[in-house]
Amino acid sequence: MQYVSTRDNTLHVTAAQAIATGLSADGGLFTPEKLPHIDPVFINKLTGFSYAERSVEIMSLFLDEFSRDELLSFAQSAYGAQKFPQGNAAPVKTLDTGLHVLELWHGPTCAFKDLALQMLPHLLTASLKKNNEQRRACILVATSGDTGKAALEGFCDVEGTNILVFYPQDGVSDIQRLQMTTQRGGNVGVCAVRGNFDDAQTGVKAIFSDTALRARMDQAGYFFSSANSINWGRVLPQIVYYFSAYCDLVAQGRLRQGDTMNVCVPTGNFGNILAAYYAMRMGLPVGKLICASNRNSVLTDFINTGVYNARRPFYGTLSPSMDILISSNLERLLFDFSGQDSEQIRTLMNSLKENGSYAVSDSVNNTLKSTFYAGCCDDEQTQKTIASVFTGCGYLLDPHTAVAFDVYDRYKKETGDTAPTLIVSTASPYKFCKGVLSALGEDTQGRSDAELIDKLEEVSGVPAAQPLKAVRTLSQRFSQVVERDAMLGYVTKTLGI
Ligand SMILES: *Cc1c(COP(=O)(O)O)cnc(C)c1O
Repeated sequence: MQYVSTRDNTLHVTAAQAIATGLSADGGLFTPEKLPHIDPVFINKLTGFSYAERSVEIMSLFLDEFSRDELLSFAQSAYGAQKFPQGNAAPVKTLDTGLHVLELWHGPTCAFKDLALQMLPHLLTASLKKNNEQRRACILVATSGDTGKAALEGFCDVEGTNILVFYPQDGVSDIQRLQMTTQRGGNVGVCAVRGNFDDAQTGVKAIFSDTALRARMDQAGYFFSSANSINWGRVLPQIVYYFSAYCDLVAQGRLRQGDTMNVCVPTGNFGNILAAYYAMRMGLPVGKLICASNRNSVLTDFINTGVYNARRPFYGTLSPSMDILISSNLERLLFDFSGQDSEQIRTLMNSLKENGSYAVSDSVNNTLKSTFYAGCCDDEQTQKTIASVFTGCGYLLDPHTAVAFDVYDRYKKETGDTAPTLIVSTASPYKFCKGVLSALGEDTQGRSDAELIDKLEEVSGVPAAQPLKAVRTLSQRFSQVVERDAMLGYVTKTLGI
């Protein structure tokens, strides 16, 4: 299968090239030229498989240069009991008739990013070999909190790679910061940026497209790659869990083969919900895709009006991993909607860069609205939802997942649609103790992170995730803070070039 850039559909690369480079030099995102199609027999076959085997079946549809044996060995090490001690990488819990939760936070860093970032290092190092790449990959990451840690954990001491993570200084939770600044490994670097996530992401994109720097890197034996969801190797493993959840629901007798399910995703950079969209386009019976945002409601407005307007205030919220105004992966969706018209995408993305906004045609807006439902929810409503779901059924939500619950509730009321729905739960509530505890009416003032974890365990009776409990025993290794325009200097200094 060939991949094309969203900004130049004549540029064809292999999967290994797309994964190794992450972002196309024209600023576009690599995207499959054609999506594979599956039939009910395929889904039937998957139903009897483990998560690792399901991932091989799906990924091999997209990666013809990788053998099944190769993919199986990656999947066993990415999704095995060492990384997912619960024994299931993506379990589905049923809370009520037709209400199912896909728990994606049983991995090493307790957020859904692990599902992709445990796989990506395998795909990337194998891609380097297939490309006969002699240089080291320097992986640059801008993170709103969860990607950074998951990428550090995935790439820690992986041969042939260095990983440098930038996070917004005041944009992450205390536990997220501690998780990153205590990271072990000889090939890792972590640096805070003064500004918000969009500043960090814009800074990383600028480093990527700096041609002089590229040449310098090349001479020093390095090249840049990305572990953000702009990398196809991040999106692909995420398609797997939508199929897997469907199979589990069929196996549990909660869906009949062929029934449709809605999917509701708490959304930031649009990577997770894009994977659900691809699963649907491949033939998974998905009804409505419900896109849930926090107070940074740029996607809600876009889906409802067809105008993407990033010129608006940026709000720090209780769900920091969704505090994003520029959703990179939307570009892949628009590319698909436009029939892979890269000229149109270039025009839209130029407008975003120059004016901070763009508008899509009425026909694209109609397709958007028939495929997606969009809603948003502020912090107050997020906390109310955490409290009411906990009181109602004893289930503890993290703030991101709570946003999805709230928007789903509104969807049901507005549309009367009671079709089975899968809500994607993206983080352990223990990553966001402060917000969760205050939602439950507890005072969090002056308490340390360690105390907050203990308190939440005591209040909720839900055991804390082990990796988060362990963070407090580690000492901090990284403390540097830079301005956005000093990010480049951090990179060159750390690599010694
Ligand atoms: C990253 C993240 C999101 C947003 O996912 P996107 O793929 O960027 O839309 C939502 N919730 C949590 C907990 C996250 O870490």
